[in-house]
Amino acid sequence: MTATIIDGSAIAKAIRAEIAAEVAAMVEGGEAPPHLAVVLCGNDPASATYVRNKGRAAERAGIRFTLHTPGGDSTTSEILDLCARISEDPDVDGMLVQLPLPRQIDSAAVLEAVPAAKDADGFHPLNLGRLAAGAAARVVPGTPLGCMELLRRSGVPIAGSRAVVVGRSVIVGRPVALLLVNADATVTVCHSKTRDLAGVCREADILIAAIGRPGMITGEYVKPGAAVIDVGTSPVDGQLRGDVDRASVEPIAGWLTPVPGGVGPMTIAMLLRNTLALARAHRAAPAR
Ligand code: NDP
Repeated sequence: MTATIIDGSAIAKAIRAEIAAEVAAMVEGGEAPPHLAVVLCGNDPASATYVRNKGRAAERAGIRFTLHTPGGDSTTSEILDLCARISEDPDVDGMLVQLPLPRQIDSAAVLEAVPAAKDADGFHPLNLGRLAAGAAARVVPGTPLGCMELLRRSGVPIAGSRAVVVGRSVIVGRPVALLLVNADATVTVCHSKTRDLAGVCREADILIAAIGRPGMITGEYVKPGAAVIDVGTSPVDGQLRGDVDRASVEPIAGWLTPVPGGVGPMTIAMLLRNTLALARAHRAAPAR
């Protein structure tokens, strides 16, 4: 068997086109386009690139994008004031603060200053709580939601499947495990203390690798025919490498996402989806 390679770039493009059509219909109906505000603090080049890509994707989908760029020497209270101003602006539907923030800033306090009703990243405890409660969540963190869309749009059966998630971070591992539970998979979450990781992974019909250790998941970890979703992105010799060793996994798996071009492009597409969902909810019952 050779795995079907899941083309995340093509799927993300199709989703961005769907969102653009929904935004266009909104505007034709007389509404203002959804409005996303982003705070980028400091000069981290990787963050600047991510934010530029988010802005481009938003504008191409017809979403209004406003960028706030406080200096890298800002204080926590300055960033909190900025977040309060944005969150109180009735014209803004969704907002996010690009991480990491400069060291002197209390990141947890800043993230709490993004209200649940405008939380485009889906990291607010209320939104994560809705996901944990199995309730219909308005917004879900982009990377985990992207993993689910890749599975669904590739025709991978989820309900009743055994799923194994390697990684338990708040931004990827935990929310993707909750999404899989909510989609009726039987889910095991693994981490650095898991015993016999390869043996546990070999039970998976769906294996999600969100570790940050390039090439760690080899063919020995994979059940024949499994769907393997590689979330990992580690820079190695100037290139991005995933957690999955493609050479040994591709002949065994049923489906496999490449790095780059798999999960990565989905994250921004899901941010746009969250922004549209927030705009719809905000206009139905204005948060401010
Ligand atoms: P974290 O470092 O927060 O979490 C890594 C997880 O992997 C932890 O739960 C850790 O376990 C677990 N882990 C580490 N080593 C091992 C091991 N040897 N065996 C089993 N488990 C292990 O990372 P993130 O969740 O933030 O990101 C994971 C990867 O996904 C990174 O490469 C990141 O760059 C990428 N990423 C990609 C995105 C995209 O858009 N494509 C978006 C977000 C992340 P423990 O909890 O015990 O420490």
